Amino acid sequence: MKESIHLQDIWLARNRIQSYVQHTPLIFSEKLSESTGKSIYLKLENLNTTRSFKIRGATNKILSLTDEEKERGITTFSTGNFGFSVAAIAKELGIRAVICISKQVPKTKVEKLQQIGAEVQMVGKTQDDAQKYSYQLAREKGFTVIHPFDDPQVIAGQGTIGLEIIEDLPTVDTILAGLSGGGLLSGIGTFLKNTNPSIQLIGLSPENGAAMYESIQRGKPVLVKERPTLADSLLGGIGENNQYTFQLVQDYVDQIVLLNEKEIADGMVCLLKEHGLIVEGAASVGVGAILNERVRLGSNVVIVISGASVDPSIVLEMLV
Ligand SMILES: *Cc1c(COP(=O)(O)O)cnc(C)c1O
Repeated sequence: MKESIHLQDIWLARNRIQSYVQHTPLIFSEKLSESTGKSIYLKLENLNTTRSFKIRGATNKILSLTDEEKERGITTFSTGNFGFSVAAIAKELGIRAVICISKQVPKTKVEKLQQIGAEVQMVGKTQDDAQKYSYQLAREKGFTVIHPFDDPQVIAGQGTIGLEIIEDLPTVDTILAGLSGGGLLSGIGTFLKNTNPSIQLIGLSPENGAAMYESIQRGKPVLVKERPTLADSLLGGIGENNQYTFQLVQDYVDQIVLLNEKEIADGMVCLLKEHGLIVEGAASVGVGAILNERVRLGSNVVIVISGASVDPSIVLEMLV
């Protein structure tokens, strides 16, 4: 039988990662609160090591491995924030990490991974090829594959965000966060819905690629056609053999809203102008949704500002 994920796993995750991952600030947004008449807060996950919340899940998973597994090494196939996080924590713990990526991945990303200290393996043309190679390394060399979202320990790590939100704002009634593979909202949902089921969880995805939304509509994991988006960290499929997040998102997420590119850009511009924050599109979707009145809000709202992997010039150019 497959494992399920409980409240307690998130408490355990918090104890495990505490000395590696900081409790991030929750700040009040004067501007958004004033314009909506609600109390709106920002959970600043962009301030984490490697600039995204992904460090939480990666750290919890890697620290849960046996000594023998750590000795043999780990591998993952994410080109984005999860890859950076796995590389960083593996380096800190002295574990060999091989990040598998396709030959199409931009050179800047490859260099960033190498700078952090990871071994990068470039294989094939697509992300799918890279993923297959990761599993091949696991079979042939005994590496452990660290899945970017569909893994109980990764989900529990992301769930520590929910725990921190409740500690800092016990009256929270609405949470907004970007939705891609669903690890983030599965984790937050597991904590919050088992603590106070009346809290509303809203997932936000770009119109230009919303695999989880489409999969839920069709009742099974499906592939979607993707177009470029400012929220590039929210692209990618959920896996046709999805084990955990497809179900958890269905159980815990109350609503999924799709945003267009202008709405995402509005969020990025507002975060820069009002809060001096340069963050990526995937982290700005909550603000974009509120500014464009796309979501119904409770009285105490938290927006998860999930990451900041963005070239600052992209955001600065939006101001002119
Ligand atoms: C990965 C990511 C998300 C979405 O997380 P999932 O667990 O894939 O749903 C949101 N924002 C940023 C910045 C990310 O890197």
